Amino acid sequence: MRLSVFGVGYVGLITAACFADRGHSVVAVDKDPDVIARLRRGVPGFYEPGLEEMLARNLEASRLTFTTDPEEAVKQSEVVFLCVGTPPRSDGSSDLEQVEEVARSLAPLLNGYRLIVEKSTVPVNTGRLIERTLRLFAPAAASYEVASNPEFLREGSAIHDFLHPDRIVIGADSDRACALLLELYGRDCDCPKVVTDVKTAELIKHASNAFLAAKISFINMVSNLCEELGIDVTTVARGMGLDHRIGGHFLNAGLGFGGSCLPKDLTAFVKIAEDHGVDFTLLRAVEQINEERAGRLLRKIDQALWVVRGKTIGVLGVAFKPETSDIRNAPSLRIITQLKKAGAVLKVYDPQGAQNLQRLYPPDPAFAYAASPYEAAADAHALVIVTEWDEFRSLDLGRIRVLMRTPIIVDGRNLFAPDEMLRKGFEYHSLGRGGIDRETAPLRGLVEPQAASPAAGRG
Ligand code: NAD
Repeated sequence: MRLSVFGVGYVGLITAACFADRGHSVVAVDKDPDVIARLRRGVPGFYEPGLEEMLARNLEASRLTFTTDPEEAVKQSEVVFLCVGTPPRSDGSSDLEQVEEVARSLAPLLNGYRLIVEKSTVPVNTGRLIERTLRLFAPAAASYEVASNPEFLREGSAIHDFLHPDRIVIGADSDRACALLLELYGRDCDCPKVVTDVKTAELIKHASNAFLAAKISFINMVSNLCEELGIDVTTVARGMGLDHRIGGHFLNAGLGFGGSCLPKDLTAFVKIAEDHGVDFTLLRAVEQINEERAGRLLRKIDQALWVVRGKTIGVLGVAFKPETSDIRNAPSLRIITQLKKAGAVLKVYDPQGAQNLQRLYPPDPAFAYAASPYEAAADAHALVIVTEWDEFRSLDLGRIRVLMRTPIIVDGRNLFAPDEMLRKGFEYHSLGRGGIDRETAPLRGLVEPQAASPAAGRG
């Protein structure tokens, strides 16, 4: 099939590359000429496992081309995917400027039947607004329909998620539109397909993301109680998650959710409900619990260090989640900003996200970028874990212990077992395991500064 994809950010680029990899002919359009020039050379603007290789083989096979010219893309495509951004406005609603802009640019180019498919996450009834825009700007004889096919991929496993989804949601208001999308996916995906009308499909996406956010805030709320009761929240979560009605995913207590989707989609969903006079207090609480997570970790850092000003803190993790370079709305941003304000000397390490942070915080004498977790730990008074990269789970803790000035770890992702950390000689603070943290507290007075050799910090 001949397809075009508008917007080659995370979703658009994965969509374009994966459809091309399945043998379709794909033209991908972005209005940013630098992005397009880079992609023509096979260089994605973000890290995603397997993406560079996939781009290379599909560019090579000429199944995937990139352009800034909408006409080049639309003139031969049967199906046009809209994958542009839908960022939040100051009142929490979705800003649909990019969606409207693409609809207007497409309209005059419609020269035969085209199916315009929303893949961007949009408020319910956006399909109707796209259709209205096309009607206003398209030639009278143009033939088109609008469908919804929300995307559920997760950054960090985006290619796998796109190629092996749990379900495909197809929102189409005609048999022809529905048949086209079923044909596009049917051949390769044997997962369940939920075929419905456009507005129901739009709502499924927002409701799904809000539910995932609610699960995370739920366990974080329970984790606050666990801290007071001296119970380990990870055991509670396991005990809950083995019930298949609950499921273990998204039940990890910690710093909460960030990124470019869950926070904004949750807020937009609440706004839609409120605009329709429906009480979504439940989801307001989900937002509020999430907001408080970074502050809770900062208080733990404060308590552990007593005086933060002038202390050296190693920060492990900048990306909003592992296996991505994306730092949009990452909890790290608040933590780093606050620690910087409090006068800490920071050494930050992330396997993929550090470069993006450098645009916000160029290196200076009180803010360094470490080349490894060990370099971040060297001479540090505390190490703060912010993102749950696998690399951090398998740290050589003995080496870390020797490198640090005072062996204090404040773990925002509960990567380690508290008793094990105690045995390894750390004062270990995590979230939702308060009783165990308290047991480690007496260690603080006993810790002696370690003399780390300058070379030990490298590598
Ligand atoms: P993004 O900001 O990374 O990418 C958007 C791209 O659209 C940019 O490259 C921008 O230059 C381009 N663009 C803007 N206006 C354009 C125009 N008129 N013509 C052509 N290109 C244009 O956004 P993203 O993270 O890929 O998200 C896109 C949509 O998908 C959003 O609605 C988001 O909520 C949704 N979504 C994102 C994810 C995710 O994990 N990132 C997952 C599922 C759904």
